[in-house]
Amino acid sequence: MKKPSPIALIVNRTKLDQFLAKQAIAKGAVLRANARASKFGRGGDGTATLTLQDGTTISSKVVVDASGAGSRLTEQAGLDTPDWTQLMPGLQYEISGTAKQDALVELFFGSHRAPGFFAWSIPTGDHAARVGLASRRGNVKKLLDQLVGEKWPGAAIEGTKSGSVLVSGPIRKCWSYNFLVAGDAAGQVKQTTGGGIVIGGRCGQMAGKAAASFASAGSEGGVGFLREYDKNWKELFGSDLRRMSMARKVFAGLTDETLDRLFAVLKDNVSEIEEIGDMDFQGKVIGRMFRKKELVKLLPRVAADSIRSIFS
Ligand SMILES: Cc1cc2nc3c(=O)[nH]c(=O)nc-3n(C[C@H](O)[C@H](O)[C@H](O)COP(=O)(O)OP(=O)(O)OC[C@H]3O[C@@H](n4cnc5c(N)ncnc54)[C@H](O)[C@@H]3O)c2cc1C
Repeated sequence: MKKPSPIALIVNRTKLDQFLAKQAIAKGAVLRANARASKFGRGGDGTATLTLQDGTTISSKVVVDASGAGSRLTEQAGLDTPDWTQLMPGLQYEISGTAKQDALVELFFGSHRAPGFFAWSIPTGDHAARVGLASRRGNVKKLLDQLVGEKWPGAAIEGTKSGSVLVSGPIRKCWSYNFLVAGDAAGQVKQTTGGGIVIGGRCGQMAGKAAASFASAGSEGGVGFLREYDKNWKELFGSDLRRMSMARKVFAGLTDETLDRLFAVLKDNVSEIEEIGDMDFQGKVIGRMFRKKELVKLLPRVAADSIRSIFS
């Protein structure tokens, strides 16, 4: 599948985070490295309090929880959490010394590659790639080593990133009094891929602006800014996320045979997918594909697979 112009950027996440931290510091932010927040609370005077793991407490007008998948602060602020049972272990290698490759991303599906999810390879140079996978079952390291050994024999592993990939979808409400949540902590990820850099990042920007407006407006008058944040991010991403959730539910339990049939249908529609598909706003293309007659014909198989996967 090809697009006439580039649609994605490969970022070095560590350097991106360092770049953003430096900008924040230049604007007056105080960075505390190696400090973990363990408890959110509210003081009697309406301030927000964060207790750190070393026992110290910080008070502020507002807290933005962007602490990623597994956050416990959100619940302490009186909000739902994403369904943490929908977290999958993920692993990614930076490899070098590969044979010369195209500038194409490759995805690998199937029970022997990444049960219930997929593996990916993203070229990072003529002879280098970022190769990873997440999986519902099995040992992700074993699965990834197997993939690398088969597809890029002799390649050297230069770096490793492990973590959790979240496919649960967003929580109902992302604010409470002097508290906002954004990113994986709020489930603001594409359920089809677990990708949260673009959507979560955009929501993070919106949360930051809302928090600043709340802090300058003062307590009662500022609540509207927090509410607006929740409304605005949902307006931008809510409909796409709902469709991605539907696609994820359909996809998660499919057998290899149904996957093959599904991809055969998608292959016949490649030009349409190329034309309307969008890596981040996937709702339109998902909606369009679900209306294809050939795909509708697959629904009984899909339903049978889903029921089988619940009991297996
Ligand atoms: C192997 C792998 C590959 C991925 N590839 C992609 C990809 O290609 N594209 C994409 O869009 N997404 C990808 N993702 C998902 C992506 O990493 C997440 O969606 C994204 O990082 C979420 O950003 P975040 O800022 O919400 O949380 P995180 O990136 O998890 O950042 C949370 C930060 O908060 C800190 N923190 C956690 N708890 C506390 C605490 N109690 N107190 C203080 N600080 C705390 C953490 O140390 C961390 O620095 C991948 C995930 C994995 C595991």
